[in-house]
Amino acid sequence: MNEVLTAPTLDLHPKAAVMSDAERAERMKNPGFGKVFTEHMVVIPYKDGVWGRGELKAYGPIAFDPAASVLHYGQAIFEGFKAYRQPDGGTATFRPFENAKRFNTSAARLAMPAIPEERFVEAADALIRQEDKWVPNAVGESLYLRPLMVATEAALGVRPAKEYLFVLFASPSGAYFSGGVKPVTVWISEDYVRAAPGGTGFAKCAGNYAASLIAQAQATEKGCDQVVWLDAVHREFVEEMGGMNIFFVYQEGGREIVVTPELTGTLLPGVTRKSLLDLAQELGYGAEERKISVSEWNAALKEGRMTEAFACGTAAVITPIGKVKSTKGEWLIHNGETGPVATKLREALLALQHGQKADTHGWMHKVK
Ligand SMILES: *Cc1c(COP(=O)(O)O)cnc(C)c1O
Repeated sequence: MNEVLTAPTLDLHPKAAVMSDAERAERMKNPGFGKVFTEHMVVIPYKDGVWGRGELKAYGPIAFDPAASVLHYGQAIFEGFKAYRQPDGGTATFRPFENAKRFNTSAARLAMPAIPEERFVEAADALIRQEDKWVPNAVGESLYLRPLMVATEAALGVRPAKEYLFVLFASPSGAYFSGGVKPVTVWISEDYVRAAPGGTGFAKCAGNYAASLIAQAQATEKGCDQVVWLDAVHREFVEEMGGMNIFFVYQEGGREIVVTPELTGTLLPGVTRKSLLDLAQELGYGAEERKISVSEWNAALKEGRMTEAFACGTAAVITPIGKVKSTKGEWLIHNGETGPVATKLREALLALQHGQKADTHGWMHKVK
């Protein structure tokens, strides 16, 4: 169950005057993803072994000492989840305690301090309440929350820092990929890996993304939208697509089975991935977590045993994969079009998040 705070640990210092309704409406017209930011943020400092009081204040730049260790040794983690408008005009977030838990898993891997889950969620709830007018109303749109933590201690010695800053800000979000739900073309990366056993693949750390950008650039060069990562050891098993988890749809004994790579420590354990495994079964599909090689992917498609592939994550929900390219050739999936299983799962998840379907799992966290 959700933890309850006994006393608020956040000081609210909102701006004296917020943006006019007209200006806000203008900025929210075509928000895209991660380009428009709201007017407030939350910061919580960590020093001397404890988290201090947090502050909700005007959104703006943060000053760092040039010796701040995040700028050198990269102790930086983040999260991403969303607030959705509900039919009663209120707002709710989707499984925020899952993000809080994962934030602390990431923190532990990077030798950073854990933040109490209830403080993580309290910060988000306070920011969302403050920015209620920034929560879009349309289904498929939402207010994206971006919590992060960085090492702020001015010290060049290579060791875990002793001072950190937790920051949370928000961004109204439309479709993650411009042009709506359109199947993407992916490039199977053989030159680069995202994560190796014993590394940081399961952690949502900034460095994973820094290391991935060159592979994404190569995918673009090859005329693809996204990169598909293979395991670092065999260079054979599919792990993820860009910053999203990946699913395959098989036909077996007259029904659909959704299959996603098992969590090996090199994959990021997505909240969307976990939720879709449950939703798939409720929709009558089978659901499996196991290894899938590129050769199996190719063969299953050719034999007609696999009918769809899609990627999933908070930001873009579900993105169908229409075409695969690699050094070994290219192949189409579902004729390059969005398949019925991806569509049904996407609709089911969005209906739940927007309060149009009963929340039988207790996944929604009411904010307002
Ligand atoms: C955040 C992320 C995901 C998706 O996780 P969700 O919790 O579903 O948003 C998948 N892969 C990577 C590499 C990620 O960083």
